[in-house]
Amino acid sequence: MKIQSVEATWLHVPLPADKQHRSDFGQIAFFDGVLVTVRTADGLVGYGEAKPAVGSSGNGAALVAIVRHELAPLLVGQDAAHIGALGQRMLNGSRAALALRSGRAMPILGRRGVHQAAIAGVDLALWDLLGKAHGRSVLELVGGACRPSIPAYASGGWRGEAEIGAELGRYVEQGFRAVKMRIGAMDGGTRASLARVRAARAALGPGIALMVDAHGTLNVAEARRFCAAAAELELRFVEEPVCSDDRAGLAEVRRSASLPIAAGESETSCFDFAELVEQRALDVLQPDLAIAGGFSEGLRIAALAWASRLELAPHCWGSAISFQAARTLALASPAGTYVEVPLGGAPLLRELAAIDLALHDGALLPPAGPGWGVEPDPEFVARHAQD
Ligand SMILES: [Mg+2]
Repeated sequence: MKIQSVEATWLHVPLPADKQHRSDFGQIAFFDGVLVTVRTADGLVGYGEAKPAVGSSGNGAALVAIVRHELAPLLVGQDAAHIGALGQRMLNGSRAALALRSGRAMPILGRRGVHQAAIAGVDLALWDLLGKAHGRSVLELVGGACRPSIPAYASGGWRGEAEIGAELGRYVEQGFRAVKMRIGAMDGGTRASLARVRAARAALGPGIALMVDAHGTLNVAEARRFCAAAAELELRFVEEPVCSDDRAGLAEVRRSASLPIAAGESETSCFDFAELVEQRALDVLQPDLAIAGGFSEGLRIAALAWASRLELAPHCWGSAISFQAARTLALASPAGTYVEVPLGGAPLLRELAAIDLALHDGALLPPAGPGWGVEPDPEFVARHAQD
């Protein structure tokens, strides 16, 4: 399992007009991701993914450079099976041995941000390799699923008050029993957001779980006002009501709200989640495994969620690879409650590789191995590779 090469490819995929949507991020015309490929001397190939942005579009050039020029030299020649040690090598650089001897992190500069996303890409590829080497899914390697299936929620809900019910209704027709809609600054005020959410709830009826996501665009007063007025609508959770950097504000919103608060998609390490938990700022932890250090860091965040009596519902807005990793984590962790399924244009999820997204009573079955159980289509990769 000696690592022979570590490569990264930025995939930049245009979305056809009918697959685009508009939110506070503007008109979404592209979907981007960075595919990480790790090859071993004995001919195995593992695939991982690093995300250049938390939403659909982002520039992957910096991630590609970090993987190629910073991480690859630390990895080539090492044993790919030693995922834990290699993770510390990527995090702590030349101080890795010292850090491990001391039992604490001694990170080089990139302990947050895109560096952690680059590490995530490599880490996911190493887990894929380990599964393939043993002929097992990653889920089997970590002890198997603790539930037969994991509920999935449809993530979309961009339409206005008049059309939101029909949009979410189409997701229910596809088999989802839970749906999430966007609210916040794009609505121009909490009154308009509430009107949209009331229209959604009226159209869906009481039997479908409804979540909302403000993309961190409200201030504390607006978020508190929204949560108070929305209490009767029985929302499953309110996601990122305020900016993630305002942890005290998030905690204030949570204290005053009778609705569960979800957050974490743009956090890049377990240390960030630990602080959010310490500040009692959230009920549902939402790590993105292509941003927050990969599956290894995801296991640490899942353990934190369980030990803190909180829920785990990984953020998924990337490729089939990070989706399988999130699905695996939510199935393997007793704290797992949901995985997110992006609606609208998500070509890296649905076209990069063949993937089983069939819903069974609104839930997804465990992925079949080996590794993550998805193999990128080389033609798709060649067509959308960006230099
Ligand atoms: Mg979100």
